[in-house]
Amino acid sequence: MSNNWDALVTFDQQHLWHPYTSLNHPTPVFPVKSASGVRLTLEDGRELIDGMSSWWAAIHGYNHPALNAAIENQLKSMSHVMFGGLTHKPAVDLAKKLINITHDDLQHVFFADSGSVAVEVAIKMAIQYWASQGQPQKQRLLTIKNGYHGDTFGAMAVCDPDNGMHHLFSNVLAQHLFAQSPNCSGQTTYDQTAIDDFEHLLKNNVGAIAAVIIEPLVQGAGGMRFYSAAYLKKVRELCTDYNVLLILDEIATGFGRTGTLFAYEQAHIAPDILCVGKALTGGYLSLAATLCSSKVANGIGDGQHPTLMHGPTFMANPLACAVANASLDLLLNSPWQENVNQIEQQLITELSICRTFTSVKDVRVKGAIGVIELHQALDIHWMQPRFVELGVWVRPFSNLVYVMPPYIIEPADLSRVTSAIKQVVSEITETSP
Ligand SMILES: *Cc1c(COP(=O)(O)O)cnc(C)c1O
Repeated sequence: MSNNWDALVTFDQQHLWHPYTSLNHPTPVFPVKSASGVRLTLEDGRELIDGMSSWWAAIHGYNHPALNAAIENQLKSMSHVMFGGLTHKPAVDLAKKLINITHDDLQHVFFADSGSVAVEVAIKMAIQYWASQGQPQKQRLLTIKNGYHGDTFGAMAVCDPDNGMHHLFSNVLAQHLFAQSPNCSGQTTYDQTAIDDFEHLLKNNVGAIAAVIIEPLVQGAGGMRFYSAAYLKKVRELCTDYNVLLILDEIATGFGRTGTLFAYEQAHIAPDILCVGKALTGGYLSLAATLCSSKVANGIGDGQHPTLMHGPTFMANPLACAVANASLDLLLNSPWQENVNQIEQQLITELSICRTFTSVKDVRVKGAIGVIELHQALDIHWMQPRFVELGVWVRPFSNLVYVMPPYIIEPADLSRVTSAIKQVVSEITETSP
């Protein structure tokens, strides 16, 4: 067993890139043999309770019989066919479901193969919409700081300009507009200073702006920040007033994570274009989608450039669509809202104590997301193995220790995750000056 572990880790560390790592200074990796429910089993037999849902995705837990069955059944008829000129029931069923559960305005679906690609497609739709309307100069995007929209070049260009990769790639990236991010506290009103800055940029550049792109209510990988529904509502109003499109990136927040099926529901608004991904397949396969309104779809279709110029090889992969259909059925037939609320209450109760630790700057909880922001960047080389020793899987980054467990986690298991976090965060307090 331990031979197997060593062989995997040794080869891996010499040859495999992991997300955001250096091959010359690899961070520790832990070989997983299997995963079931909320438990990951490592190659040496140790079990870890999952606090991450494999990055917002595995909302029903791992190895779920209904999701397994959906893939097995689909496999027997076809695993893939090209989507150019062909269609199939899994894709049509999934598009119907997505149209049904999102805002009535959203009637058209583009299936992409990852979240980043869904964002690229959304940006293309927006620029092409204006080109078709005879306004090809409207090509820029307005967003807010601390955002994260993916790692491809179009998406990267709207990620936070400081903690994103703008410096390294500054000559290659499209130059977009960044308003200050709204303040990150539990307020119910909007941050007037942030809105003023946003409106100022919008007003001064409106002739060049195709769309606003923003993560609704929760900014994920750009800082795990939460902002008010009132701010989002104001952004929607300004987009309407100044006649620019609104792209909402719900790749992280979609499918219940913030307490509503989509975060935008809390602001009682609708986007012109919506990106979903991550939890779409319950964490089984890579699939994302870009939905848009008839205004956008017809605006493109009726215009001078009627063809939407995108078409991934694995577009609408039937296996991915089949498991997404099963995942949505599972979600909608489960008491997900109750589960998310219960997780929220438990995270508030159990994590609040961390506010008293000297290393901690802020503790915040929204839906099934708990965040502990530290004053200083953490040491992943120390912290990651420490979490594993304590029997939980939590993957911190930068100065953030955060959890977003599968919705099915039992209170006792969630307590083990929060206890480990309290333990590890308290140890930083003791070891740092
Ligand atoms: C993860 C994420 C993406 C990118 O999705 P990938 O599937 O990793 O390409 C885009 N936007 C948001 C908000 C995300 O959280």
